[in-house]
Amino acid sequence: MKRVARVAIIGMGSVGSSYAFALLNQGITEEIVLIDLNTAKAEGDAMDLNHGLPFAPSSTKIWFGEYSDCKDADLVVICAGANQKPGETRLDLVDKNTRIFKEIVDSVMGSGFDGIFLIATNPVDILSYAVWKFSGLPKERVIGSGTILDTARFRFLLGEYFDVDPRNVHAYIIGEHGDTELPVWSHADIAGMKIGEWAKKKNDFKPEELDTIFLNVRDAAYHIIERKGATYYGIAMGLVRLTKAVLGNENSVLTVSAFLQGEYGQEDLYIGVPAIVNRNGIKEIVELDLSPEERERFANSAGILKDILEKAMEPY
Ligand code: NAD
Repeated sequence: MKRVARVAIIGMGSVGSSYAFALLNQGITEEIVLIDLNTAKAEGDAMDLNHGLPFAPSSTKIWFGEYSDCKDADLVVICAGANQKPGETRLDLVDKNTRIFKEIVDSVMGSGFDGIFLIATNPVDILSYAVWKFSGLPKERVIGSGTILDTARFRFLLGEYFDVDPRNVHAYIIGEHGDTELPVWSHADIAGMKIGEWAKKKNDFKPEELDTIFLNVRDAAYHIIERKGATYYGIAMGLVRLTKAVLGNENSVLTVSAFLQGEYGQEDLYIGVPAIVNRNGIKEIVELDLSPEERERFANSAGILKDILEKAMEPY
């Protein structure tokens, strides 16, 4: 029998369930397995999503499952764990979520899983490293969602500012998915034209407005959490984009948390960088020629992550 693509989602909270809903609506995979400590929630979600199948773009098998179902999964996507409470940073979640991840990854690997991990739980850069260590899988098969959402927010806000479709805006946020991330202004363009050229065309342009755009990207999660308690639709769509890139063997360039071995002058950590993603996971890291200031800010972001990583991984 022909093998079909299976995605297992661990953690059916706001992020996991939004991701499942977006996956189903975009018809990305043939099978979706839902797993959560809160079995009633995962079971209820499976029932609810199944009732939408008559309206779905393609046939999908969705069920409330267990870790043994990860054996035949192409992708295991982890959205489980604590999320940020108002006033908490992503890095405040380290110890709690590393402990949860040890259990989860051991259970997934115990099933005989031999696919690709995609991590969304925060702090995503630290937890992607933890999954790589705990699973023993090659580094290219552990992908963190990294700055995929921050990059999307950046493209949206720049598109809105210059009145151009965000899909035509090419600009990256790199570094920690969190407070030390940075915009790569030196390589930002819209339709092949540098942002500076667009600025010249805009009558009422003020340079400080670009700084405000970045601050709004960096602090977007805080702004949303203040208003509605959590963020989930944007990341869910980012996870679907990554899923499509993997299952469709796309070689797409996306900003993900990837393991560095000397790229950008850094090593032995997971951090957000543009990378080529395909059926084997992270095929290649795209090394941009950063400006000296960007390089320094990236090194600072990496340094902060490395300090936290060292403490987080100490007990393991
Ligand atoms: P949530 O509290 O709504 O859901 C978490 C789910 O994890 C719950 O259903 C809970 O039962 C489950 N869970 C907890 N421990 C588990 C275990 N050991 N095994 C299986 N399931 C377990 O949280 P959320 O809002 O969905 O956020 C989930 C994570 O995603 C958070 O860490 C949040 O910070 C992160 N997040 C990341 C991004 C990003 O850009 N990467 C964006 C938004 C949120």
